Amino acid sequence: MTTKFKIGLDYGGTKVEGILLNENGEEIKRKRYNYNEDYLSGVEVIKNLVNEFDQFAEMQCTVGLGIPGSSSNETGLVKNANAIWLNDQPFQKDLEKILKRNIRIMNDANCFTLSEAVDGAGSKYKSVFGVIIGSGLGSGLSFNKTIIEGVNQVAGDWGHQPLPYPTQDEFEANVNCQVVNCKRPLCAERFLSGKGFAENFNKKYKTNLTSEEITELELSGDERAQKELSLYEDRLARIIAVMIGIFDPEVIILGGGMSNIDRLYINIPKLIPKYAFSDKVRNKVLKNKHGDSSGVRGAAWLWN
Ligand SMILES: [Zn+2]
Repeated sequence: MTTKFKIGLDYGGTKVEGILLNENGEEIKRKRYNYNEDYLSGVEVIKNLVNEFDQFAEMQCTVGLGIPGSSSNETGLVKNANAIWLNDQPFQKDLEKILKRNIRIMNDANCFTLSEAVDGAGSKYKSVFGVIIGSGLGSGLSFNKTIIEGVNQVAGDWGHQPLPYPTQDEFEANVNCQVVNCKRPLCAERFLSGKGFAENFNKKYKTNLTSEEITELELSGDERAQKELSLYEDRLARIIAVMIGIFDPEVIILGGGMSNIDRLYINIPKLIPKYAFSDKVRNKVLKNKHGDSSGVRGAAWLWN
């Protein structure tokens, strides 16, 4: 039997990372190249990565690609990408022509979710909700190790909905989201992304700290950081409860920079019952297993 090798690629804002998996899902090779922030430079880097992996594997491998947006099933063009030079480009068609094979493209939060569902923290469960909390708040749904993409290809991506059960303070924070297609007051991402968390903190206490620095302060007993992290946990519990009301996943898996805060996994499960419409809350909140590798791994698993 021929060994089937899979290539997974993660298209970031400045670099493309690639991984080669064997049929057991073991990592054989990994590479990363920077590109200039334009469309053709990214295409060239992908072509070189795939050629290198093909040569190494001595076969034409399958290619899955995670992007910060989605490739529209309707038009074939990229939409909603924060790497803005990708928007409205026929990325999939161009790559398929250059790479001489069909490829699969998926939103990067979906790739994270798939990676954790297939052989990560969610491998023992059927229904998985993956949430990446970094500079943004992206998320995806998986059932039976398959992504539920939705008719608009935004299923599970609830980060730009309004923060549920807002308090007076949250209303008065006057938060407006600048992301195109959102621009809404009370957008949850502005409170819950690492960037949003730090911005609110800095505005309130007249500081200039990153989310990591605030977390370190919390560990050293700083009262402001403790208070704001407790509020943060309450907000995250509120919006997770909304997803429980819709999808009721067995596990909620956190990724991205904010997922490194250990207290979230203790406190959020205690807070969810306040907001979920259920006699008992059985959903688990877990930390990811594959860390930053989940993007490339999930992209490779698009051919499973
Ligand atoms: Zn928004």
